[in-house]
Amino acid sequence: MDCLKCSTCCTAPDIATLGKGLGERCRHLDDSGLCGIYGERPAVCRGYRPDELCRLVAAPTLEERVRNYLRLFGVEDEIGAMPRSPGRS
Ligand code: SF4
Ligand code: SF4
Repeated sequence: MDCLKCSTCCTAPDIATLGKGLGERCRHLDDSGLCGIYGERPAVCRGYRPDELCRLVAAPTLEERVRNYLRLFGVEDEIGAMPRSPGRS
C-alpha cells in the first residue's frame, strides 16, 4: 500500500537511534508529515514500509492513531503523555 503520510510511524514507536521515546513526535517530522532529514534518515527508518499496520491504526487524529498503535503492541500504559503537536513544548 502507499504511505498515507499519517505521521503515526514517526510518532508512536520508540526509536533509540533518534533518542525518541514511545508516543513522542520525531523532531525531524515536519508539519506536512514529511521527514525533514529524508536523505539522511537512519537505517531503521529507511527499512520501514507501509503495510497492514497502517490500515489497522487508522483514525481521524494522530492522537487516536498513536493510541491504536500502542494498544496493538500492548504498550499503551508505558507512556504518560500523548504526542505533542508541532511547536508545542
Ligand atoms: S504509519 Fe504507514 S501510512 Fe502512516 S506515515 Fe507510517 S508508513 Fe505511512
Ligand atoms: S527520522 Fe524521519 S522517517 Fe525517521 S522517524 Fe523521524 S521523521 Fe520519521
